[in-house]
Amino acid sequence: MHSLLEQTESPLSLFPVLVVEDQPVSRLRLVKTLVKAGYEVVAVENGRQALDAMEKRYFPLVLTDWMMPEMDGLDLCRWVRGRPNQGYVFVVLLTARDNKSDMIEGLEAGADDYLIKPFIAGELFARLKTGRRFLEQERSLKLACEAIRNLSKSDPLTGCYNRGYLNERLPQEIQRARRFGHCLSLAICDIDHFKRVNDTYGHPVGDQVLIAFVKWLQGSIRNQVDWLARYGGEEFVMILPETDLAGAACMAQRLLKIVSGRDVQVGAERIRITASMGVTGFGPHTAEALISPENLIRQADQSLYLSKMQGRNRVSVKPLEAVGREDLPD
Ligand code: GH3
Ligand code: MG
Ligand code: MG
Ligand code: MG
Repeated sequence: MHSLLEQTESPLSLFPVLVVEDQPVSRLRLVKTLVKAGYEVVAVENGRQALDAMEKRYFPLVLTDWMMPEMDGLDLCRWVRGRPNQGYVFVVLLTARDNKSDMIEGLEAGADDYLIKPFIAGELFARLKTGRRFLEQERSLKLACEAIRNLSKSDPLTGCYNRGYLNERLPQEIQRARRFGHCLSLAICDIDHFKRVNDTYGHPVGDQVLIAFVKWLQGSIRNQVDWLARYGGEEFVMILPETDLAGAACMAQRLLKIVSGRDVQVGAERIRITASMGVTGFGPHTAEALISPENLIRQADQSLYLSKMQGRNRVSVKPLEAVGREDLPD
């Protein structure tokens, strides 16, 4: 099994080096040496210019001289450590100062490593390689965290978002729509008589039907804009930003047509399902007090109930309404 933290060597182009050196001859030599080895290099003359370069772009490797006009290498190290960077910045301090107390001062200021002038190319490469190993580890950890974050958002069976993610993102989506005066529609889709599918073909086949259902829904909504979350067993919530009720109704009809017009093939079985939908939403003129995640879900659920009552395989649409007396707790 491959570990997420397994070490693979990335190309040098992923590690651009910022060279900070005031002496033109030394600077040129450094640049030439590094470019020849395959590094992408940007060179500047002092700490001040280094700050400007680092504000504009992320340099994972910084090779800096100590003594320079305007801003020296130690102040540059302190500045780097005192700010949030896009990723770790591995700093190698390059200097003619070679006693122990200087070395300690350099490391205390935030340098990761230390190279004494005049350096030989082999040592420079070895120090930078240490930095790359370190940066590789950071990159792997970030990827692992990203994978965990994605897993925590998704439903393990169907791969669409889960209810936890819906709870987290729906309020943000509503807020965004309100801020820009946009419409937002929400639909609940529920497979009709799904219990019968399980009872007839067994639960594992039912699972395959759920997977196919989600694939169809996801294949029919706008990429990057609309999104789908599993609300419960065979119920899914679809969020349609910047879509008014007429648009959402149209889309819902189209989806139901797709669902009812295809078979799910599981082994030798060909299974045909239908689904019902309840749609609601708000626009720029909807009263603020009506707009909440709970009210959207409640209204869509009531519309879904209507679709079921009226015979299933249909869409019911209703704008957001105030909670009626029948909905108030006793
Ligand atoms: P209706 O048309 O009224 O929606 O009828 P229904 O049978 O679809 O609704 P009901 O709520 O009675 O049953 C839902 C079924 O969905 C029961 C439950 O076992 C099944 N179910 C829920 N989650 C899963 C799942 O992850 N896999 C499978 N195979 N079945 C599931
Ligand atoms: Mg100098
Ligand atoms: Mg159902
Ligand atoms: Mg249901």
